[in-house]
Amino acid sequence: MATDIKIAPPRLTSRNPATGEVLREFEGATETEVAAAVCRARAAQPQWNELGVQRRIGILRRLQQLLHQNKSQIAQLITHEAGKPYVESLTTEVLVVLDAARFLIENANRFLRDEPLAHGNLAMKTKAGRILRDPYGVIGIISPWNYPFSIPASQSLAALAAGNAVVLKPSEFTSLVGLELASLLHQAGVPKDVFHVVVGDASTGTALAGSEIGKLIFTGSVATGKRIAQLAAARLLPVVLELGGKDPMLVLDDADVEVASSGAVWGAFVNAGQACLSVERCYVHRSLYEPFLEACVSKTKRLRVGNGMSPDTDVGPLISERQLRIVESHVADARALGARVLTGGTPLRELGPNFYPPTVVADVTHDMRIMREETFGPVLPVMPFDTVDEEIRLANDSEYGLAASIWTRDRQRGEAVARRLQAGTVMVNDVVSCYGISEAPHGGVKSSGLGRTHGRLGLEEMVRLKYLDSDRLPGIKKAWWYSYGGAFTRQVEAFIDLQFAPKLHRLRSAWRSAGIMTRGTKL
Ligand code: NAD
Repeated sequence: MATDIKIAPPRLTSRNPATGEVLREFEGATETEVAAAVCRARAAQPQWNELGVQRRIGILRRLQQLLHQNKSQIAQLITHEAGKPYVESLTTEVLVVLDAARFLIENANRFLRDEPLAHGNLAMKTKAGRILRDPYGVIGIISPWNYPFSIPASQSLAALAAGNAVVLKPSEFTSLVGLELASLLHQAGVPKDVFHVVVGDASTGTALAGSEIGKLIFTGSVATGKRIAQLAAARLLPVVLELGGKDPMLVLDDADVEVASSGAVWGAFVNAGQACLSVERCYVHRSLYEPFLEACVSKTKRLRVGNGMSPDTDVGPLISERQLRIVESHVADARALGARVLTGGTPLRELGPNFYPPTVVADVTHDMRIMREETFGPVLPVMPFDTVDEEIRLANDSEYGLAASIWTRDRQRGEAVARRLQAGTVMVNDVVSCYGISEAPHGGVKSSGLGRTHGRLGLEEMVRLKYLDSDRLPGIKKAWWYSYGGAFTRQVEAFIDLQFAPKLHRLRSAWRSAGIMTRGTKL
């Protein structure tokens, strides 16, 4: 006898990580609710697509205006729910999305329109080819908490511009920001059924990955990404996986220590180190090692840790105690294996359970977890190197390959080193900020993921390519159709020689293959 098993919806609590204040409690969406949202999105998508790119762009323009008008309120919400300093909510979230909208407004029409495809095959010269870009239908988006606005918003805008409907599952830590994004899009004119938010935890995410979506854009940890990839493989669901990083920073012997140390301190501690692109490993040429450490320690000591709503705060809280324990365990492991903690290294319990100070750790090695696993906290581990070859080997000695940075006074030298690094992005003399360049593709190699978001390549991920071939001579049977025979075979051989034999033989082949286009024995 069948039993009607009712699965209780997951309970979620959105909290301010700085104060512990409960911001809202939610019931997460169940599998049935996720399926219903996807079903409504599927039904609404064709009309959205028929609207055409120009009209969808008009809606994105309104979204951009609304976001601009409400920038302070949205940035405050981000800081309340994710903890980062308010100014970072403005720069790394609001500004990034305003610019992502700008990029689509300026370029989506050009990038999405039919693209004529010239071709060189002599036999096919009667054909006109084009590449068409069709939306997938419904794009599922699963997002993390560390950039709870800029990540899902920039992905959603690209998906919507391309004519897709979207069902977004924000992180369970930042549901309110996800709902705010939906509210903005709906106010701008995106129909309710074209953009859905399903709040929930891993179970809601699993339900979305298993639903009738056409493609999934997942951003999160490598462990979850692998689970998603397995689920997706079973039904060949296309996925983009934007996963974790262990980004190296390489300080060459000609680097400006004053500049590079400031870059390292910001790159390691921005968003309390909870950035996929943050500096997680720092390699410094031995000749600069001690002055570089000294500069980093002195600058780190000047950083103010606290509630992100205070304008003086440089570094906010971590998202949770669980995250803090990971950071603690990496620092403890490094200490136990001989690393020197030069500043920080002990949680700031007096500020609250989620506060960890910006920490500089010297003399680390690749035997330590801090140099192998993603720490995702405000820690800058620094290691000396002697030769560029050694440094490149160390940088590439990681399962991750999201981004890397090289610091040198010689740009050409930096770019030459960049080519030898296994990473999705390499910056010379800056770090992290590539995420703010809407034109630049974002994504990793190795365990850092598959596919790209942002820019033209990110937009391409939101469409299925279709090759449309149209023959200009519809009344003519094609030379390669039936029937075959000895004469035809010889003509084909001659036709191949005509194009690919050494030059001297080609003329003779032209003569022998001449009849191929006009042969009269076709079925
Ligand atoms: P996470 O993998 O724990 O969660 C990410 C999202 O997946 C959340 O919405 C979560 O609810 C959902 N989820 C968890 N388990 C799931 C499952 N089994 N099936 C479906 N969905 C599931 O990651 P996080 O802690 O939210 O984010 C931090 C990680 O994200 C870090 O590793 C960071 O490097 C990475 N990240 C990568 C990028 C990038 O662009 N490459 C950007 C930001 C963050």
